[in-house]
Amino acid sequence: MSFGFKLTGTERGGARTGILTTGHGDVETPAFMPVGTQATVKSLSPDDLRAAGTQIILANTYHLHLRPGEALIKEAGGIHRFMSWPGPILTDSGGYQVFSLADLRKISFDGVSFRSHIDGSSRHLTPESVIDIQLDIGSDIMMVLDHCAEYPCSRETAAEAVARTTQWAERSLAPYGPRVTRDGYERVIFAIVQGSVFEDLRERSARELTSLDFPGYAIGGLSVGESKKDLYGVAAFTAKLLPEDKPRYLMGVGFPEDLVEAVARGIDMFDCVMPTRNARNGTVFTSRGRVILKNSSNRDDFGPLDPDCDCYTCRNYSRAYLRHLFMAGEMLGPRLATVHSIRFYLHLMEEMRQVIKEDLFSQWRKEFYEKYGKSDG
Ligand SMILES: [Zn+2]
Repeated sequence: MSFGFKLTGTERGGARTGILTTGHGDVETPAFMPVGTQATVKSLSPDDLRAAGTQIILANTYHLHLRPGEALIKEAGGIHRFMSWPGPILTDSGGYQVFSLADLRKISFDGVSFRSHIDGSSRHLTPESVIDIQLDIGSDIMMVLDHCAEYPCSRETAAEAVARTTQWAERSLAPYGPRVTRDGYERVIFAIVQGSVFEDLRERSARELTSLDFPGYAIGGLSVGESKKDLYGVAAFTAKLLPEDKPRYLMGVGFPEDLVEAVARGIDMFDCVMPTRNARNGTVFTSRGRVILKNSSNRDDFGPLDPDCDCYTCRNYSRAYLRHLFMAGEMLGPRLATVHSIRFYLHLMEEMRQVIKEDLFSQWRKEFYEKYGKSDG
């Protein structure tokens, strides 16, 4: 089964809808990928994910390389079998994690050396080894090792990160090319455009990477502390530099309103820890805005968390019960909150796909804000 991408609709303003075909099933875009860093979306089973409408999940190469190690995942028959998720999986390369989590990292043009944040052991990752690790893990979509410069950074630092990211992207293609068939399905490599908030550097990065003809392109280095104006502006600017017929993935973004604004600017794929991490801490996103479950206003509210939501949590439990679970520190609380938040994000994507097809996106966007603006958070 080979990888493909087909646009099925483009709205006047630039929002797109399409279908990604992978060896483990199709993904309708725009798509949100729940984050399963350690080969698990925290507190959810694959059945929960399916019930929420999940079509693809993200796992992390850096974390899985350190623990349990790609050799064990390969021995288990690959990540799909290991975690019992038969659908498509994208693995992040770990570049971002090396730069944000690992100690004593040393970057060279060869790769990056660092100490594991788990046991302090010395590690070295290269663009080639990161692809081999992902091939052993068995993901459908692999990401190149990139250099994500910190924010804010000088133009010089951003330019160096762009140059390194291009060199590393070329090297990640050298051993096998952008498409590798193993175990009966095709795995593909996506490149990552860097350049911080500098338009000329984004342009250079996009030009160099698109000349290498990857099956898909990500926009990296955003949602790292820049303003919303920069986030939306750079995403829009960069999306226009990418080929029409390839999927565009905005990494690590974001709040529900960020997804709406990025879809409006022609982005097709997203991942973010926002819904799951916040849910575990008792903050959930709803069609009426953000809700902090521990707020006293929920104490005797026997209505559902979100009257417009069809998730298991909203169908069966009240705000008062959810607040009680969080106040009592019960583990069902974070789980039920996560079930809702993931469903809310995926339902949002479903709605956007529908209104793009009907060319009603602009009108829908206004209605979304009319409701969502009434936030109690
Ligand atoms: Zn719900």
